[in-house]
Amino acid sequence: MAYIIDGKALSQKIRLDIKKETEQLKNQYGKIPGLAVIIAGEDPASKVYVKNKILACQEAGFFSVHRQFGADVDAETLIRTIIELNADDNIDGILVQLPLPKPLDGDAILPFIDVRKDVDGLSAFQQGLLLQGTPDLISCTPNGVIELIKSAGKEMSGKNAVVIGRSNMVGKPMAMLLLRENATVTVCHSKTENLKETVKNADIVVAAIGKAKFVTADMIKDGAVVIDVGMNSVDGKLCGDVDFENVKEKASAITPVPGGVGPMTITMLLKNTLQSFKRKVGASL
Ligand code: NAP
Repeated sequence: MAYIIDGKALSQKIRLDIKKETEQLKNQYGKIPGLAVIIAGEDPASKVYVKNKILACQEAGFFSVHRQFGADVDAETLIRTIIELNADDNIDGILVQLPLPKPLDGDAILPFIDVRKDVDGLSAFQQGLLLQGTPDLISCTPNGVIELIKSAGKEMSGKNAVVIGRSNMVGKPMAMLLLRENATVTVCHSKTENLKETVKNADIVVAAIGKAKFVTADMIKDGAVVIDVGMNSVDGKLCGDVDFENVKEKASAITPVPGGVGPMTITMLLKNTLQSFKRKVGASL
């Protein structure tokens, strides 16, 4: 039976460190990190995420700004808000909660965020730095996954890692981060042939698909590390992309859903905001 990687506990520990460092920096520089969250529309899941992000900021001792717009907001209004926040010296991180309601197009709006305040790490600049091997603000979810694997004491160097999913938010930066840890990385997607055989060869599996219980025990090598990024609603309950109950019998370590990757994503957002703030005040990174 696998070691269950407790993302909530790890998250609490890192958030406490961030809070302590924030207090020290406040004493030293007389300023605190600031995060601005922009949300459009009334999607219930998005509203919960935003509430949790604001709450996490408050607990860490950060300043936070929450800009809520209706679903009918136009792109110009959102862009104007971003430009104002770019110029606001109290704000170190700006994020636009995704997905945006239709017909708003995130690809046309997100590029207006100052790349040094892009704490979601989604801009071409931040993703380009990661691709070049000199990351700055790393995409939060994959960064959290690396911390979870490290916390379980699992070696990545030289191991076969398979990432299922190739989104800009999770799959692609995940592959780059695993490569930085010297894993041999394969990325699978909806067109992959022999997916089961490929996953079965993996020492580390990261599932970021968006399909409940997609990864089953027969796809998993004995002793593999299995990280479940998926968040699916099944009969009103949160469910991952991995068939947790059966896979945990074969894996050596596994993250649960909820309580695995999810809490770490917000923690990495705090980490990025703190990093952006430290650069601004000239503190060592
Ligand atoms: P996405 O943009 O929809 O990407 C899904 C990926 O899965 C795509 O690359 C897709 O392949 C691949 N895929 C779909 N069906 C497949 C199949 N049958 N076989 C192999 N690959 C398949 O989703 P995302 O934004 O990366 O998110 C993935 C999951 O993670 C979702 O459940 C999301 O809610 C969750 N998530 C969780 C967190 C967190 O904090 N825990 C954060 C972000 C996302 P193609 O590219 O070929 O279409």
